[in-house]
Amino acid sequence: MYDFNYHKPASLDAALETFEGSDDGQFMAGGQTMIPVMKQRLAMPSDVIDLGAIETLNGICVDSGVVSVGAMTPHAAVAASDAVRGAIPALAELAGRIGDPHVRNRGTIGGSIANSDPAADYPAAVLGLNATVRTNRREIIADDFFINLFETALDEGELITAVDFPVADAAAYEKFENPASRFALAGVMVCRTGATVRVAVTGAGPCAFRATEMEHALAADFRPGALEGISIDPDGLNTDIHASAEYRAHLVGVLAGRAVKRVA
Ligand SMILES: Cc1cc2nc3c(=O)[nH]c(=O)nc-3n(C[C@H](O)[C@H](O)[C@H](O)COP(=O)(O)OP(=O)(O)OC[C@H]3O[C@@H](n4cnc5c(N)ncnc54)[C@H](O)[C@@H]3O)c2cc1C
Repeated sequence: MYDFNYHKPASLDAALETFEGSDDGQFMAGGQTMIPVMKQRLAMPSDVIDLGAIETLNGICVDSGVVSVGAMTPHAAVAASDAVRGAIPALAELAGRIGDPHVRNRGTIGGSIANSDPAADYPAAVLGLNATVRTNRREIIADDFFINLFETALDEGELITAVDFPVADAAAYEKFENPASRFALAGVMVCRTGATVRVAVTGAGPCAFRATEMEHALAADFRPGALEGISIDPDGLNTDIHASAEYRAHLVGVLAGRAVKRVA
């Protein structure tokens, strides 16, 4: 490991001030992605600003039909939260299926979505449940947040403080996971609120996206049969050692059907 300055500020203001004062600073949540990336020297920040001591970034609050999850809340806390299970069971279930116990206890929602890993689970929840990402500067709606592979709408030095999930009438998440890492080869979140249906896909493309043709079909007729004849175009989807684009496209259809069945 090369030399860098390590900071562990106790407040949001101190973290932002430290960032401003550094040459090439980077915020660190649980370090689940950042430490391996630094070890490989794919990132070489001058200053690592550990957010772990900022209590206001950690915690869950359910109020007025919104589940608000602090950026530093680990996946295990979301999975175990009675408040989340009661309000949006699909969100707690999704968090409980991320990685292994170590990853779930160190990894955070803020780190996960800031990273925009194409195979991460939370992006499907953010997009499917129509969440709002709160930062130190503004609020970003889900549809504007994920831009591309490892790219989000966050600006340099912008810090996620919380993610607000509106409580849906019903939602379900289905994923086909890599048996080693549990990252999603494909994952689909289906969410129904009133007459509105959202279908969000992760794992299949460069970043999470909405399957709008499926959404329209389900808004007209909410049952798995409504998806018959709708295929996902593999063009532009991911091909890697784990699965081809065609296989991922097929998985999206299968998983969407399963999720609709559970929601219905
Ligand atoms: C073995 C293994 C298996 C995994 N399996 C899965 C899986 O099945 N599903 C899944 O979804 N994920 C999986 N993950 C990813 C994991 O869940 C973490 O969410 C992810 O690695 C990010 O980790 P972190 O929260 O510790 O963030 P870090 O690694 O600390 O940070 C990641 C990035 O986000 C930035 N960042 C962190 N917090 C903030 C913030 N508040 N505001 C702005 N930027 C911020 C950092 O600067 C960095 O660029 C796995 C990881 C590992 C190591």
